[in-house]
Amino acid sequence: MALFIDVKVADDAARNPETAKKLEEVCPVGIFRAGGAGVEIVDENLDECVLCDLCLEAAPPGKVEIVKLYET
Ligand code: SF4
Repeated sequence: MALFIDVKVADDAARNPETAKKLEEVCPVGIFRAGGAGVEIVDENLDECVLCDLCLEAAPPGKVEIVKLYET
């Protein structure tokens, strides 16, 4: 069974440049990028997620969600 990850950032948090910068800094595998419009998700790095939860701690509570998708 393979595990795929999707990362969701709530719109208001995603548009916050400070949150974007923090997320870019904390993720050890570069899933977040602080872009001109806020948080961007780097799709090609999503499968590198190590479920460390650092992004959940860096963002305001409940604003980042790691979704585990299983494929059988
Ligand atoms: S759980 Fe860790 S590796 Fe996964 S997106 Fe968040 S900070 Fe990055």
